[in-house]
Amino acid sequence: MPSPSTFTSVNPADPADVVLTFTAPGAFAAVDTVERARAAQAGWLLGGAAARSSALGAVAAAVEAAAAELAALAVREVGKPLAEARAEVARTAAIWRYYAQAPYDPVGAVHESAAGAGLLLSRRRPHGVAGLITPWNFPLAIPSWKAAPALAVGNAVVLKPAPEATACARRLAEIVQQVLPAGVFTVLPGGATEGNALVSASDVVSFTGSTGVGQAVVRTATAHGIPVQAEMGGLNAAIVLPDADIDRAAAHIAAAIAGYAGQKCTATSRVIAVGAALDPLREALGEALRAVPVGDPADPATVCGPLIGARARDQVGDAVHGLSVLAGGTVPDGPGWYAAPTLVEKVPPGHRLLSEEVFGPVAALLPAEGLDHAVRITNSVPHGLVTSLHTADLDAALGGLDHLDTGMVRINAPSTGVDFHLPFGGTKASSHGPREQGRAALDFYATTRTYTLAPAKT
Ligand code: NAD
Repeated sequence: MPSPSTFTSVNPADPADVVLTFTAPGAFAAVDTVERARAAQAGWLLGGAAARSSALGAVAAAVEAAAAELAALAVREVGKPLAEARAEVARTAAIWRYYAQAPYDPVGAVHESAAGAGLLLSRRRPHGVAGLITPWNFPLAIPSWKAAPALAVGNAVVLKPAPEATACARRLAEIVQQVLPAGVFTVLPGGATEGNALVSASDVVSFTGSTGVGQAVVRTATAHGIPVQAEMGGLNAAIVLPDADIDRAAAHIAAAIAGYAGQKCTATSRVIAVGAALDPLREALGEALRAVPVGDPADPATVCGPLIGARARDQVGDAVHGLSVLAGGTVPDGPGWYAAPTLVEKVPPGHRLLSEEVFGPVAALLPAEGLDHAVRITNSVPHGLVTSLHTADLDAALGGLDHLDTGMVRINAPSTGVDFHLPFGGTKASSHGPREQGRAALDFYATTRTYTLAPAKT
């Protein structure tokens, strides 16, 4: 019988295929890992901008060199369809390359001294050890988009990956550790015990995962006075206006519902059809979802692979039980944890599909009388990550931009899709603290020190 601290990650397409079994080291080991990272951090910072830049660039090249192997591992460990796994690896390399330039960015400002002679300076300084806690669904890109900016400004990093994605994290760490000095990037395997210990031992904390866990992480870090950011769940809407190209909108929305079995924080889970868009959209989206290739994630044609576990698969069935099903609603045969891309309608007010993230390939079709009504429906949930708005009307698009209470709005594009060089994040229960990604991330991983340089002699 495995102890509670033994974790197993398995292939979601074939649960008999065990990818990794490991023993979590416990809370003391987490603190010890942070102490060792702290000892390595000063050398990393003092090594200088050129050394940090070339190390991050070398990670990008090493990720590219290992691309096929990394993509295959993501397919096997977290059921990511091969085409998306390849795209994630390419993005991972691009993230490291993007932040490889950051050590050369300006690190502050120079001001005239108010008193006359002398100078006033402000300068970005790293916090020390960045504790990073990540989910399983982007097992290479999310650890990288946290670690690369943290390292670029001179922090050391301790990464606590999701247990389900630990083999991916370990392989990424091997690649990073080949080019970084010892101790600067460490993987701390484990679950809630190690994650919780990491939060209170770190100097800055970045979390991505579910809203409930994220809110607990924010409370713990805040109680210890540790800067924290948390990216959490979504309940994202796609709004379709009658003037939109309905077939194109349906194709985008089907991809955002069913791609990677809906296991993206940016997946669409509510489809809001305005006025006369309802009937053609019902038909086009139902058809598009029924045509989504479901199956083996190793097949390059697959769009909707398995869910991460039996519980996740069962939740999809539970969520749509008793509702009017327009597409899907079934659990295909096979050894993996699959669910068919599903669209339901006539969802009663207060139903959990309208207030909780299911994290599967399922969405509710909701009618709205006009754009204002659609915006009110969109904003009526606890989450506020991303909205997609489909229209040919520039005024409507601009109105949507102004009134939607989500961190990101995508016009005539799927709700899924991330531009790593732009700030990423949401409002309300979807995000806490400063944005991730882009140059904004560099500020989060640093504090500002102000210097006064007065003349030595008057
Ligand atoms: P999760 O919340 O179960 O786990 C996330 C991480 O937190 C894991 O590493 C886990 O081991 C760790 N953890 C669990 N309990 C902890 C505790 N008490 N203290 C510290 N750490 C703890 O999430 P998941 O199932 O791995 O990922 C799916 C969720 O992530 C979904 O809700 C999804 O929307 C969200 N997500 C959000 C974004 C975003 O950027 N907003 C991106 C990807 C995924």
